[in-house]
Amino acid sequence: MAPITKQYDYIVIGGGSGGSGAARRASGWYGAKTCIIDAGVSGGCCVNVGCVPKKMTWNFASISEAMAAGKHYGYKFGDGNSFDFKTFVEKRDARIKVLNGAYENNWAKEGIDLIKGQATFVSEHEMEVKPKDGGEAFRVMAPHICIATGSYPTIPEGIKGTEYGITSDEFFLIKHLPKKMVFVGAGYIAVELAGVMNAIGVETHLFIRGNTFLRKFDPMVQETMTKHYEEIGVHVHREHPGIKEVIQLHPGSADGSDPREKQLKLIMNDGSEMITNELLWAIGRGPETRGLGLENIPMKTNKNGHIVVDKYQNTSVEGVYALGDVTGQAELTPVAIAAGRQLGNRVFGPPELKESHLDYERIPSVVFSHPEVGATGLTEPQAIERYGKENVKVYHTKFSAMYYDVYPPEEKKKEPTEFKIVCQGPREEIVGLHILGRGVDEMMQGFGVAVKMGATKKDFDSCVAIHPVRFPSSSLPI
Ligand code: NDP
Repeated sequence: MAPITKQYDYIVIGGGSGGSGAARRASGWYGAKTCIIDAGVSGGCCVNVGCVPKKMTWNFASISEAMAAGKHYGYKFGDGNSFDFKTFVEKRDARIKVLNGAYENNWAKEGIDLIKGQATFVSEHEMEVKPKDGGEAFRVMAPHICIATGSYPTIPEGIKGTEYGITSDEFFLIKHLPKKMVFVGAGYIAVELAGVMNAIGVETHLFIRGNTFLRKFDPMVQETMTKHYEEIGVHVHREHPGIKEVIQLHPGSADGSDPREKQLKLIMNDGSEMITNELLWAIGRGPETRGLGLENIPMKTNKNGHIVVDKYQNTSVEGVYALGDVTGQAELTPVAIAAGRQLGNRVFGPPELKESHLDYERIPSVVFSHPEVGATGLTEPQAIERYGKENVKVYHTKFSAMYYDVYPPEEKKKEPTEFKIVCQGPREEIVGLHILGRGVDEMMQGFGVAVKMGATKKDFDSCVAIHPVRFPSSSLPI
């Protein structure tokens, strides 16, 4: 049996956003003897294969869009407006390496031990660690353990040849752009990545099962965005019958070292076929509990394998907590960070913080689509379900942003702008806010605060407009 080598106050499994937030609060603020055990690259999904490289790639695509807009403003660019995607990817990767180091430096500064390896529960408060460098396994113990292992992209079952497609993880390995790319899925990832590829000239196909994408969002968002994606050239295959088989005709190479393009043949459930150069599955993410040894402890998981937690992030095992994607609660980086900090306050903080927990209501989020979408609170159907139709009042507006005033009327690539607020009760408290248009990503946080504070329609009306910004408050629904 491996000897016990170290005793901690707090073991955090996973060095992503949630794990880092949890460990830093416990160690940096309250001096708990803490270690992070991480099997991957420091920073987790967000830094390495999620938010950060996605946003950088979205910025890259936005430059293409700005250049296209420049034409309408009378700008003349050099011939071809070409770009070097590989150079951009190398710069993006270099930045991510800096962030990996920054995470590790912050942990070191705050006295957190970083253990690179796979941790497995052997009992409720004892874990065996297999070091990543192949060294000898050892054990760590703590009265408090936090599971913040995140999630991984799932691929559909029952389809032959799924392995020839990629997921969002491998998307960030692409240095040589495919000529044609198929995305399967209808959520944040499919919509964001398909939007980016379309904006930089890749023939982009989006296979969605329903009639609209972003179906967890308000109907306004679903309908306007799906239609706009079609207008800007994304081939949206609504009510797609699904892929039956993927056949690899040629493997190609993500870095372009093979001069022949990757080539896949897709055979659909209705017998139709399509040839594509890349295929990306974006059908959701699964909880990363593989190898954790949850079967060795009385840990409760739900039917999707997510760890079941209460509002304090307590699991079914006393002293073992879980947060972030592995719990399936609002799978967003800032949610995991906030939950980790609150948990640290509760477990290691002063007595007045013993009830700390994250409030999961009215969490704002942004989809980095084209244009961006921002939302917080309830959709209109959710509000009606919760409060009754007679108690819900909706204000809705749409208009063209000033940015497009110089565009010719026939130009389809003008991004729509549309707002909706969903109010409840006689005070017209805003319980849902849904906005789409250029720049809504940067305005959403302010609205997030207001809606979280319980702002009413009257509060919004009483705020004097700023002019001329993209969205003066006078353009809010009145
Ligand atoms: P999502 O859960 O957002 O969306 C996946 C969608 O794919 C489903 O809603 C479903 O839509 C569709 N789908 C599911 N199964 C299949 C199938 N077998 N075939 C075809 N379509 C299918 O997952 P994502 O992978 O897009 O993202 C995971 C999570 O990561 C998100 O929920 C989000 O919380 C987070 N994220 C956040 C971002 C941000 O904040 N900007 C960016 C990226 C990710 P339908 O039922 O309509 O078919």
